[in-house]
Amino acid sequence: MLPACAYLLLGGLNLLTGYSKPAGEAALGLCPFCRRGELRLSYAEEEVVGFGKLLLLVYKCENCGYRASDLMPLEAREPASYKVRIEEVKDLNIKVVKASSGFVEIPELGVEIKPGPASEGYVTNVEGLLARIEEAASTLKGDRGVEGNLKVFLETLRKAINGVKVFTVIVRDPLGISALISEVPGKVERRPLSREEAERLRRQLVGVAFEYK
Ligand SMILES: [Zn+2]
Repeated sequence: MLPACAYLLLGGLNLLTGYSKPAGEAALGLCPFCRRGELRLSYAEEEVVGFGKLLLLVYKCENCGYRASDLMPLEAREPASYKVRIEEVKDLNIKVVKASSGFVEIPELGVEIKPGPASEGYVTNVEGLLARIEEAASTLKGDRGVEGNLKVFLETLRKAINGVKVFTVIVRDPLGISALISEVPGKVERRPLSREEAERLRRQLVGVAFEYK
């Protein structure tokens, strides 16, 4: 479920207020989760510099509170892998376009975000991505099984958020939707996925949304 504050993490692309570009709502019929309320879709078109046009989608059901977000490019895109080294505070502004089909890895933090039924799509920056990870990890607080590791993890994550830890962000998407975008040419390393790699990742598209090591 998407918490209310996650709208802030869409990187200012708020679907609920003051949207001037093509936007609207659609009724999708009976909610598949509670089978009582109506599932509604809010959509808005956005142009992300260095990426192109995309549709931001938010699904919600007022009856059971179900909420999910995703995004869809309006132009054809090639399955690719993006890699960036975050070395200083300003690198935290590098844009992250993450669709529900995106795989995100931060090896230095032991973070892997894999697509799954609860996978969300959003546009944010590296700082916003770390904030989402912090929020997801914080829900594990009080779980005795992970307590010690979690404390260390959250401390390391804080260092990353404060720009005092160097780390790598890798984004891969077998559907080509997700991307990392920097204004600095050559900062983000991009390569097309091989056919085999894209196929392997497509098979993994059903998995868990957040894996904590
Ligand atoms: Zn519902």
